[in-house]
Amino acid sequence: MAVILDGKMLAKRLEEETLQRVQKLKEKNITPGLAFILVGEDPASVVYVRSKNKACERCGIRNVTVHLPETITQEELENELGKLARDPEIHGMLLQLPIPKHLDEAAAIACIPPEKDVDGFHQMNAGTLVNGTPGLRACTPLGIMDLVKLSGVETRGRHAVVIGRSAIVGKPAALLLLEADCTVTICHSKTVDLKSYTRQADILVSAVGKAGLITGDMVKPGAVVIDAGIARVDGKVVGDVDRESVESVAGYLSPVPGGCGPMTIAELMVNTVDIAEGRYRG
Ligand code: NAD
Repeated sequence: MAVILDGKMLAKRLEEETLQRVQKLKEKNITPGLAFILVGEDPASVVYVRSKNKACERCGIRNVTVHLPETITQEELENELGKLARDPEIHGMLLQLPIPKHLDEAAAIACIPPEKDVDGFHQMNAGTLVNGTPGLRACTPLGIMDLVKLSGVETRGRHAVVIGRSAIVGKPAALLLLEADCTVTICHSKTVDLKSYTRQADILVSAVGKAGLITGDMVKPGAVVIDAGIARVDGKVVGDVDRESVESVAGYLSPVPGGCGPMTIAELMVNTVDIAEGRYRG
C-alpha cells in the first residue's frame, strides 16, 4: 500500500516555521503584508481568498483584501493594482483568478511588480524559472516539489511525467522537476496513449482536473504519485487519481483533499515572508 503524503501535516509544519520567521521580522519592525485582489463574486474565488486570509492570520501576516465589483474597467483595475504596487507595507500581491471575461488577465498581472508577485505568474518570474535564475515560483508547483521531497525519493536521474501543460501548474512543475535533475516528460490533452508514458514514471504528477483519469494500471509499481487535480463528484472534492486502484500500486500518493491544496496555501505564506525578508527562493 502506498505511503500517503500528508500535505495537511506538511503545510501545518511550513506555516509554523513561517510564523516563527514572521515573529523575527516583527522584532525588526517589519510586518509582512499580503494583498488579495478579488474581482466579482465567483463563489469558488471568494472561498479561496477566505482560506488564504485565514492562513495569513495563522502566520501573523497582515492581509488586505481589495474586493472590486464585477463591472470594473481594465483601467480602474490597473489603478487599484498600481496603488498596492506602490504601497511599501504590501510585500506580496495576489490577483485571484479567474477575473471576469471583459478584463485582460495578462495585462493585469503585468501591473504586479515581479518582486511582489507571490503567485509567480508574472512573465519575469516565469522567465527566471526557464533561465534557472532566482525568482518567485508558483505556489502549487512549489507544493508539489515539497510533497515529492517528503517522500524521501531521490529525484536525480528519475523519470518524472507531468500531465497538464498550463502556465500555472503543469509547465512550472515540469521545470522545477527538471531543475531537480529529473528527466521530464510533459503530457497533455493531445497526448496519444497517455498510459504508455505514465507507466514509465518514477514520479507522476497529474494536474488536469478530471476525476478518475489515473488508474492503477497506468502507474509504475512503487512510483511517487502527486495528484494536483481538483474535480467535484457528487458534491465531493476529488483529484485526478482513482485512489482505490492506485493506492495498491504506487509507493507514495498525495491525497485529495489534503495534499496539494493545503500545500499551495502554505507556499503562498512562505513566498510572502521570503519577499518581506528581502530574498527570493530560486
Ligand atoms: P488547465 O485547465 O489550465 O490545464 C489542464 C491541463 O490538463 C491542460 O494542459 C490539458 O492539456 C490537460 N488535459 C486535459 N485533459 C487531459 C487528458 N484527458 N489527458 C491528459 N491531459 C489532459 O488547469 P490548471 O489551472 O493547470 O489546473 C489543473 C488542475 O489543478 C485543475 O484541476 C485545478 O483545479 C487544479 N489546481 C489545483 C490547485 C491546488 O491548490 N491544489 C491549484 C491550481 C490548480
